Order: sequence, then C-alpha cells, then structure tokens
Amino acid sequence: MTIEPPVQPVLPIVGGGRFPVGRIFCVGRNYAEHAKEMGDVVAEPPFFFIKPASCLPTVPGKLPYPPRTEDLHHEVELVVALELGGADIAEQDALRHVFGYAIGLDMTRRDLQGAAKDKRRPWDMGKSFDGAAPVGAITPATDAGDLSDVAITLTVDGETRQSGRTSEMLWNVPAIIAELSTYMRLMPGDLIFTGTPAGVGAVTRGNQLEARIEGLTPLEVEIV
Ligand code: MN
Repeated sequence: MTIEPPVQPVLPIVGGGRFPVGRIFCVGRNYAEHAKEMGDVVAEPPFFFIKPASCLPTVPGKLPYPPRTEDLHHEVELVVALELGGADIAEQDALRHVFGYAIGLDMTRRDLQGAAKDKRRPWDMGKSFDGAAPVGAITPATDAGDLSDVAITLTVDGETRQSGRTSEMLWNVPAIIAELSTYMRLMPGDLIFTGTPAGVGAVTRGNQLEARIEGLTPLEVEIV
C-alpha cells in the first residue's frame, strides 16, 4: 500500500514564486512591554518554541475558531523566512541567511497556555492548532528595506489593539538567528516568528484582523 506524503505548505512570494515552509520557530517574550503584560520577569532573556508547519491556514485569510478554547488571542509578529541554513551562524553573518520577511499572527489558545504554565507543562496545545500561524506574502529582503525600526500594528474591526516598533525587540533579527542556530541546524524553508509587542487580546468569530508592518504586505484575517 502507499501512503500519500504530507502536503508541503507554501507561502506566496511578493513579485511571484512560492516559498516552501519547513519549520516554524517562535521567540517568546521578545518585547519587554508584552512580557510585563503577561506577568513575566523582563530581566530573563527571550526563548524559543515551535509550531508545526501544518499550523499555516489552509484557506488564506480565514481562520476557523479553534476547538478547546474560550480565549483565542492575537499576537502580531515580524516573520523571517530563511533561504540558507546553518549551525552556529555568526550574528554579523546572519542576514545573509534571510530570504525575506512577512507579517504573521502567533494565534494562541491563552487559556490552555495559562493552564499549562500553572502546571509547568509544555505549551504546545496552547500554541499549536489548525490555522494557528497565519502568515502573509513574503517580501524578498532586497525589496523590504531596513526593518530594524519600523511600526508594527494590529487592528481588530478597525480598532488598534497592538502598536509597537521592531526596534523594541530584546533580540533583533541577527541575534535571533545566531542564538537559534546554536540549538539546532537551521534549514532553508524555516520561518521565525520574532515575538509580539504589548496589547495582545481575545478575538471572536466574525472579527476582522488587519496586521501591518511598514514595508511589508498587510495581512488580513477573518475569524470564522
Ligand atoms: Mn508570540
């Protein structure tokens, strides 16, 4: 008998082409104000967690409200798409590994995440579910310009919920790539969610989310 191979998730590239997504790494607590609103110790360095690539929505722009939660939260994030892999990548060499950038939403079942934290259990079921990682079109780095100090915002039904600047990151993009590559060998196709500014909150069915980062294609998602 033959088992069909898993479907390769892909993202559109601005200007044409498709980017095959391997793994999705995420940085936790990379903005001090968000760490504070979560009641966490800001002095501690950021850290990593992973979502499977199957968390990319199958229908772009539509996120079915997931099961097992009554507290689905938005987290708008700058997403880095890698075209070169490597281990122990030097910080000054890191941007050479970047293909481009996109806007992503690290959607979170906050109630499940909170319960896991309380019991000192893994967060995976809070962070990973079908559609948990909406990502917009990838803009090649050569077209994106300098994203080290640009506005990052999220509105829900037209009302601003999150507003920050990428310069507020505790680890910037080169530092994230260098640090992550000391844990495991990075590969072409990997995405990195770089953390969220303050203002995370709940969404419900029917909400329209619009995420913006200066220089990148906006990401619009409807909760259905
Ligand atoms: Mn996040």
